[in-house]
Amino acid sequence: MKLVSYWQDTATPAGDFRHTQVPDEVDVAIVGAGLTGLSAGLELAQGGARVVVLESHGVGWGASGRNAGMATTGLAIGFGQAIARYGRATAAKYYLEYDKAISAVEALVREHSIECDFARHGKLSLAVTPRSLAAMRDTQREVAEVGGLPDLQVLGPEDIRKEIGSDYYHGGMVDPLGAGLHVGKFVNGLATAAVAAGAVVCEAAPVVSLDRDGARHLVQSSRGPVQAKHVLVATSGYTSSLTPWLQRRVIPVGSFIVCTEPLDADLANELLPHGRMASDAKMLTYYFRLTPDNRLLFGGRARFALSSPDSDRRSAEILRRAMLEIFPQLSTTRIDYTWGGLVDLSMDRMVHIGQRNGIHYSLGYSGHGVQMATYAGQQVARRLLGTQPELPFGGIGFHAVPGHVGPPWFLPFIGAGAHVIDRWNLLRGGKA
Ligand SMILES: Cc1cc2nc3c(=O)[nH]c(=O)nc-3n(C[C@H](O)[C@H](O)[C@H](O)COP(=O)(O)OP(=O)(O)OC[C@H]3O[C@@H](n4cnc5c(N)ncnc54)[C@H](O)[C@@H]3O)c2cc1C
Repeated sequence: MKLVSYWQDTATPAGDFRHTQVPDEVDVAIVGAGLTGLSAGLELAQGGARVVVLESHGVGWGASGRNAGMATTGLAIGFGQAIARYGRATAAKYYLEYDKAISAVEALVREHSIECDFARHGKLSLAVTPRSLAAMRDTQREVAEVGGLPDLQVLGPEDIRKEIGSDYYHGGMVDPLGAGLHVGKFVNGLATAAVAAGAVVCEAAPVVSLDRDGARHLVQSSRGPVQAKHVLVATSGYTSSLTPWLQRRVIPVGSFIVCTEPLDADLANELLPHGRMASDAKMLTYYFRLTPDNRLLFGGRARFALSSPDSDRRSAEILRRAMLEIFPQLSTTRIDYTWGGLVDLSMDRMVHIGQRNGIHYSLGYSGHGVQMATYAGQQVARRLLGTQPELPFGGIGFHAVPGHVGPPWFLPFIGAGAHVIDRWNLLRGGKA
């Protein structure tokens, strides 16, 4: 079993940027070479800006190279919750941003001929209990009222087997707009396109300090300083004490994945006949999909812990047990890969794009960054280029997590709470 991301292991790196010269002066210095940083870098370079992307490790080293490759519709909070919080019109506007974001990924793939198996397989949300199926019917109705979107299809217990080869779920909901892609190939494709457009990518170049020098920023990296008119911090779940104000606002939660050996075509077709991007409606969600070469990728917040080789290995055992509970037909199937990464949760699970003291940021994707990070990076870039008057999600307060001033000591308590809520809901639904 390899302890690396399947996506990173099966993608060709965009290049070796460990020795590229750090420029003396740029218009925009970007911290982090994930989807946010690279899509912003590409857009800025295409707009004629001088830009450097500084990365501690390598292209896509963070969550961008470790996720499940699902670019799915819907907010990180339920649509009903968004209506209750922001009112119907604003909630609809926010909901539609996620669809625009998937289209932005699709347009980038096409424009830059990035071969990354992008396909609109559709999203399958799975209900574990009758109560969560009823909530899906509410969402279906509320989304229909937004207008202009294809209908969501809700499947009850009698129909769910058409979508999944498992008796575990009580029902589900399909949104045809959800997409899947090979994120390793996508993030490297973005880096290739950004470099071709004139951006400088510097790997193995952690930024160690950010200071002001009059109107300019002095960005100190381990490989030398760079002066910049603007700085974009694109560090998501890997946000550190480099930017303490942001660090207090991001909860880095470990999410873990196991990936099987390639399945024979009949078995793959039995598990997910339409190749949907699937996830279940629990606090501690399980998500799964087929990879382009027919492996089952199965992930979840197996443990509320940070990712490390030991943590990833222990999570793999928990995830394999969960996978077999849903798909007992995989009992003799080998696990080829396991890995983990950090998801950037915000307190309100909304995306936060803005600036503070001249430092621009975009994070808080809360598990929906494949499309949102890519889209948000573009939006920030357009704002800096002066072509984007308004940023998505503008005006939402960005609140610090009480007591969060360094490492997230509170994660085990959140994990225990979420576990209790899931058990209680399952008990009420007659499932445990
Ligand atoms: C296991 C897992 C599964 C997920 N599944 C999905 C999914 O299916 N769909 C979905 O939409 N989202 C998913 N997500 C979330 C999604 O991957 C992220 O929201 C998204 O990739 C964030 O992109 P980013 O570019 O903002 O940050 P990242 O990709 O995390 O990149 C941040 C980068 O900043 C660098 N960095 C940090 N500090 C510094 C510094 N001081 N100097 C230089 N560089 C620095 C880090 O090395 C890192 O490479 C998942 C996440 C995980 C972990």
